[in-house]
Amino acid sequence: MAEVNGQPVIDMRSDTVTMPTAAMREAMANAALGDDVYGEDPTVNRLEEMAAQILGKEAAVFVSSGTMGNLISVLAHCGRGDELIVGSMNHIFLYEQGGSAALGGIHPHALPSQLDGTLDLADIESAIRGDDEHFPVTRLICVENTHNRCNGRPLPVAWLDEVYELAHSRGMAVHMDGARLWNAAVALNLAPADLAAKADSVSCCLSKGLASPVGSVVAGSAEFIQRARRMRKVVGGGMRQAGIIAAAGVVSLSEMVERLADDHANAQRLARGLQATDGIGIEPADVVTNIVYFKVTASDMNPVQLAASLQERGILMNPINQTTMRAVLHCDVDAGDVERVVSEIGAALEAGPAGDPAAVKVYG
Ligand SMILES: *Cc1c(COP(=O)(O)O)cnc(C)c1O
Repeated sequence: MAEVNGQPVIDMRSDTVTMPTAAMREAMANAALGDDVYGEDPTVNRLEEMAAQILGKEAAVFVSSGTMGNLISVLAHCGRGDELIVGSMNHIFLYEQGGSAALGGIHPHALPSQLDGTLDLADIESAIRGDDEHFPVTRLICVENTHNRCNGRPLPVAWLDEVYELAHSRGMAVHMDGARLWNAAVALNLAPADLAAKADSVSCCLSKGLASPVGSVVAGSAEFIQRARRMRKVVGGGMRQAGIIAAAGVVSLSEMVERLADDHANAQRLARGLQATDGIGIEPADVVTNIVYFKVTASDMNPVQLAASLQERGILMNPINQTTMRAVLHCDVDAGDVERVVSEIGAALEAGPAGDPAAVKVYG
């Protein structure tokens, strides 16, 4: 669906829809390759060294997805019957099939995510189990940065520092699901390492705003990454001439991070445009990175109906529930596209229900 009514489709369902850049395709075509399970792919090795350095860690490992990055990290931290603490709105809890429980026998203890993506420190403190044969052993706290379901917010650095200190003082580890850590760093004007340095592990996507076709990186201590590599192998994630995709990742890390500021500016543009649109509820101050959540307040249309109508107009967005839509900015959407989106949303709301709601998927 490249065009609708002679206009290019604007796909804002996610930043995962980004296409590899011309520089990536060229780097992929020319990548030096070897067998990465033997540790012999120079391009994978280069990507892993770059990622470790950027994230302030001793080592990193290339994986096929963010879900795999989180899973192998959690498996490397926790054994069967151990417990992890996670936010109720975190990707690890909501959108990964409960893989840590299903495949690792790890007991998730979900605490209510706060609106800013944090957890209440007192909630964490009281969730950490004492030494008693009735209880699982609490090993790990999982945080998400930026926090997708919490307005794409970067986690406050002072809060993170408190979580690191609390976890470490109790002999526990912290895993950061940093699928969009790059967006957090750009929004806060800090280096990714500043946000991840004290985490025991961090998993970051190359295939979202950084536009790689495939891949994530997990970083941590050399000893941790050795264990994570074992877990990657057992879940079938040992890839051979993986440099062919890692080559795009190298371009992502060298060329695609700073430009995320453009996506954040376009997200603001969209938020301000929607604020001025009848039938939409949004507070632009809540939009800090590239993810825009807004309420559909029109009396005759819900988010699924709006998404169906927009689809007919060549604009793709995800309804999240009965009240809320999500639009994600990325390098394949520019300021002109944002203007078109704002005016089409206004027109769609004015025209009333159109299109096929059954063709729209809800991502709750
Ligand atoms: C996308 C995402 C993941 C998973 O990444 P995939 O590559 O889609 O498996 C994990 N955590 C967060 C916060 C995400 O947004």
